[in-house]
Amino acid sequence: MLHQLLFILVSVISLVVFIYTVRRYYRFFKLTKKYPLSDWGKRIQIMIKVALGQTKIFRFPLVGLFHALTFWAFCALLFVVAEMIFDGFLGKEKVFSFMGGFYNFMTATGDVAAFIVMILIIIFLFRRNYLNIKRFEGVEMTHKNHNDAHVALTLILLVVFTLLGMNTFYIKLMENEGSEILGVYPVSRVFALFWTSENHGIMELVYQGMWWTHILTIFAFANILPYSKHFHVFLSIPNVLLSRLQPLGMLDADHRITHEVKLMMNPDTAFAPAPEGQVIERFGVKDVEDLTWKNYMDSLTCTQCGRCTSVCPANITGKLLSPRKIFINLRARMNEIGPELVKNGKDFTDNKSLIRDYVTEEELWACTTCNACAQECPVNINHPTLSVDMRRYLVMEESKAPSGLNAIFANIENNGAPWQYAQSDRLKWYNDWSEKDQYPLPVMADLASQGKSPEYLFWVGSAGAYDDRYKKVSRSFVKILNHLKIDFAVLGTEEIDTADAARRAGNEMLYQMQTLMIIEMLKAYGVKKIVTCCPHDYNTFKNEYPVFDGHFEVEHHSQFLAKQLEKGNLVLKDSFKGQRLTFHDPCYLGRGNGDYTSPRKVLESLQVNMVEMRRHKSFALCCGAGGGQMFKEAEKGSKEVYAERTDEALETNCQIIATACPFCMVMLTDGLKYKNKIEEIKNYDIAELVEMNLA
Ligand code: SF4
Ligand code: SF4
Repeated sequence: MLHQLLFILVSVISLVVFIYTVRRYYRFFKLTKKYPLSDWGKRIQIMIKVALGQTKIFRFPLVGLFHALTFWAFCALLFVVAEMIFDGFLGKEKVFSFMGGFYNFMTATGDVAAFIVMILIIIFLFRRNYLNIKRFEGVEMTHKNHNDAHVALTLILLVVFTLLGMNTFYIKLMENEGSEILGVYPVSRVFALFWTSENHGIMELVYQGMWWTHILTIFAFANILPYSKHFHVFLSIPNVLLSRLQPLGMLDADHRITHEVKLMMNPDTAFAPAPEGQVIERFGVKDVEDLTWKNYMDSLTCTQCGRCTSVCPANITGKLLSPRKIFINLRARMNEIGPELVKNGKDFTDNKSLIRDYVTEEELWACTTCNACAQECPVNINHPTLSVDMRRYLVMEESKAPSGLNAIFANIENNGAPWQYAQSDRLKWYNDWSEKDQYPLPVMADLASQGKSPEYLFWVGSAGAYDDRYKKVSRSFVKILNHLKIDFAVLGTEEIDTADAARRAGNEMLYQMQTLMIIEMLKAYGVKKIVTCCPHDYNTFKNEYPVFDGHFEVEHHSQFLAKQLEKGNLVLKDSFKGQRLTFHDPCYLGRGNGDYTSPRKVLESLQVNMVEMRRHKSFALCCGAGGGQMFKEAEKGSKEVYAERTDEALETNCQIIATACPFCMVMLTDGLKYKNKIEEIKNYDIAELVEMNLA
C-alpha cells in the first residue's frame, strides 16, 4: 500500500512538471506563424520509412546500425515501462502477464533490448569521449551541449541497467520462493547465475532498489529531455511526420509577395486589397516571430548529431556556416526572447534578433543551397529554406546583399540576364556560329507567325546564351536536336532569366516578377514541353512554376538524351571508349530532384570507363556555385568549394570530368585551371560528349 501511494505521489509530481513544460512550449509555439499541412497518406509513408525504418540513419551503415538498434530497442522497452506504470498504480506485479505468449515474447524482447542498449550506450560514450569525432565538435557545440549528451546517455544507461537488475532479482526471488516466473528473461537469466547468495531479504532489497531507481530515472528523464538536445526522443517521429513534402530543390513561394508583384505589373489592380491573410508585416525571417511553428519544432527536434554540418560544402571548406548551428541558435533565441514575448506581448523588443545576434550575415551568405544538409538530416529538418527566408529579410527589407548579388539583381531587372549583356544579343551564341547554316534554329515568334507550335521549347538559359564556355554546349545540343529531327524552337531574344539565382539569394520579388512574365509568354505560345541544359531552370519549371499556375512538361537534357537512347533514336559511336571519366552530379538534378541515373545512362552508352568520385550521387559535394554563389566573392575559409570538388575529381585519376550544368561547368573549369590541369583533363558537358559521338 505504501509502495502504491508513494508511486502515485511521484507520478503526479512528474506529470505536473511535465504539464508545466508542455504549457511553456505551447506558449512559444503560439508566437510563431502558420505552416499548412496536407497529404497525410504520404506523410505516414515517410514517417514509416524515415522515422520507424531509420532509413536516413543507414546512409552511414555501421554507426547507422548502432543508432537504429538503439531506436528499435527503445521502442521494444515501451511495453515494459507501460507495465511498470500499471503495476505501480494498481499496487500489483506483472499486470500484463495475462497476455500469455505475447507477454513472454514482449518481456524477452525487452530484456534483450535492454542489454543491447546498454552495450551501445557504452560504445556511444566511449566514441564521444575518446574517438575525436569531428562532427561532434564545432563552435556551436559548447560545454553545455556536450554535458547534455553525457547526462542523457548516462540516464539511458541507468534505465537499462536497472531494468536488467530488476529482472535478474525478480528471477532470483521467484526461484527462492519456489513461485512461477512470469515472463521470459533470456539475458537476466544468465546474470542471475552469478548471484549466489540465498539471502531473501537482500534480494528483495536489491529488487526494490532497482525497481524504484528504474522508474524514477524514467520520470526524471522524461522531464529533463524537453530541456536538452534529447528532446528528439519525443519529437523525432512527429517531426518526420510533419516534415516538408516538396522536392528538396523546391522553394516555397511567399504569396503575399505575389499580390505585391501583380500590383506592380498591372497598375489596374493598384487599389485591389490584399487577399485575406496576405498583408505583409515583414518579408522573410528576422526573428522568432517570423518563423513558422515547424521551424521552431525543427529546432527542438535537432539531435545536434552534426550530420548536416559534416556534409556542408561551406563548412568543409572552413567557412563559418554550420547548418546545425542555425537550429541550435534558433532554439536559444526562442529561450531568450520567448518568455518576454509571452509576458509583454508581441511588440516587446530586446533590440536583438535571430539574424546578426545569433546567425550572422556571413554565415547566411555562405550557403550554396545544395541541400546536402537536408538530405542527411535523420529527422528531416530542412535548413536551406530557412536560410533563404533569412536572406529574403536581408534583401527585401534591408536591401542588404553582397555587391555581386546586387549586381545580378539590377542586371536581371534591367536586361533580363545576370550579366550586363543586351537582351538583343541573346541569340548571338547562335548567330556567331560558323556552322549555323547546317543546323537550323527555329524561333518561337517566327513559328507562331506561321501558325505553328513546335513540340519542344529549348530553353537556352542565360549561361547557355552568354557564357563563352557554355555557348558551346548550347550549340552541341542544337546539333543533337537537328540530328534527331526534333520539332523544337527557342524563344531567342524574348527569353529572359528565370531569376532562380536571385530567388535563392533572397530576392523573391524579382523572381516572382520574372516568373509571372515567363509563364505568360509560354502560355501565349502554347508551350507544352520544355527541354533545358540547366538543372536550375529545370527545377524551377518543374517544381516552382506550377505554384504560379505554370504547368509544363520539363526535361533536363540528360533525361531527354537518356529517353532518346532508350527509344533507339539516338545511336552513338564510341570515340571515348575505355577513357576514365567521372561525373559530377549537379545538386539541382540529383539531390534537388532525385535523378542520378539519366546522366549515367547517357555516359555509359559512350562505353567510357566510369569512375565515381568519393562523394557521388546523393552524397555528391556541391561545385560551390549554387544559391547565387557564382556571382559573388566566397566567404572567408580555408579553401574554395570548387577547389575541394576538383580535388575529389582528380583523386579518381580521370581523363574527363563530365558535367550537366552550366554552373558546374564554370566552377570545375576554374578548378582545373587552378590546379594547372586544364590541358591534361577535359571538362565536357554530356551534350558535348553525345554530340561528338553522333553516329
Ligand atoms: S544547403 Fe548546402 S551549403 Fe547550405 S547549409 Fe546546407 S549543406 Fe551547407
Ligand atoms: S539539423 Fe538534423 S542533421 Fe543537423 S544536427 Fe540537427 S538533427 Fe543532426
